[in-house]
Amino acid sequence: MAAALVLTGCGAAEEPAPSETATPVSATPTPTPSATAAVPEPTPTATPTPAPIEPDASAFDIDSGASLQVVVNKRRPLQPPEYRPELVAVSSGQEGGELVRPELDAALAGMSQAMRAEIGEGTFVFSSYRGYERQAELYSGYVARYGQAEADTTSARPGHSEHQTGLAIDVSGTGGACRLATCFGDTAAGRWLAEHAWQHGFVVRYPQGLEHITGYEWEPWHLRYVGIEVSTAMHEEGAATLEEFFGLEPAPDYAP
Ligand SMILES: [Zn+2]
Repeated sequence: MAAALVLTGCGAAEEPAPSETATPVSATPTPTPSATAAVPEPTPTATPTPAPIEPDASAFDIDSGASLQVVVNKRRPLQPPEYRPELVAVSSGQEGGELVRPELDAALAGMSQAMRAEIGEGTFVFSSYRGYERQAELYSGYVARYGQAEADTTSARPGHSEHQTGLAIDVSGTGGACRLATCFGDTAAGRWLAEHAWQHGFVVRYPQGLEHITGYEWEPWHLRYVGIEVSTAMHEEGAATLEEFFGLEPAPDYAP
């Protein structure tokens, strides 16, 4: 366990200075079986393995509430359910009183700036951290109005909301078009975020057509901060959901 953790986190990037020497193996005379792998060879030349540059998904802590990579869904409650992270006020565009984890805020400021430079509007946060109590209130409000089955499709049960991690935000562009509506995905801001959020450590957590995995319908406004290592790896691997990237079972509903 301890040994595994040593290699985890940022460890991969600080290993034997691989960052720039990404292709040292090619120097070896042996025509390494890159494409057609089926070469039955005992490989006596004990070259210390090519060392994967990408972070291994299993290297991240997806269980504890304090981890930037914690995965919370309908099958995985926040641990502990009332966990309250360290929070700061959102320093870029926001509704007022929005709180997030400091790592998210720093990344968001950079992303908003980049977005503004390209499309003329930045991000505007209208929802962010929610404590357990607040989530409980919201959820029971939905249940009272629509019944539990319907409520479960749009509101998370307390302990199961990603907003409790301080790592999730609901955004629009500063122009405010299509706020909290799926048409946001077709606005300039929504399209820019879908395309570029990963470059700033964010993912659109509930993509279109993947409710059977995430448990939620498309929410082009809900961004989750996971850190640049994970967002980049997801982008490169084409993993659309955290469940897929971390090899977790789909979470379409609360376990029966
Ligand atoms: Zn949200």
